[in-house]
Amino acid sequence: MADCPNLAGCAFVGYCNENDACTSVNGFIKIYCKSEKQNQCIRKRLCDQFGKVVVPKNMMPNGAPIPGTSTDDWSHEAKNHRKVL
Ligand code: SF4
Repeated sequence: MADCPNLAGCAFVGYCNENDACTSVNGFIKIYCKSEKQNQCIRKRLCDQFGKVVVPKNMMPNGAPIPGTSTDDWSHEAKNHRKVL
């Protein structure tokens, strides 16, 4: 399967690389971004439905914040992704 079309510009991947905040980013890329599981990525699903403006950079593909980071400034859609998706 082709890589996620968002991979080149994915703010999560960029955030991890810039902040060294997510030691498992390569695992996430392998599991989600480069497989059909990309269709389960909460980031991708939010982006497809509401636009990338609602997707926080520190949201992991499973919808949780990167450990040690805050959800305080997350959009309504991001905070409530279980309800709105
Ligand atoms: S984290 Fe999600 S949106 Fe970003 S490139 Fe991977 S599958 Fe796509």
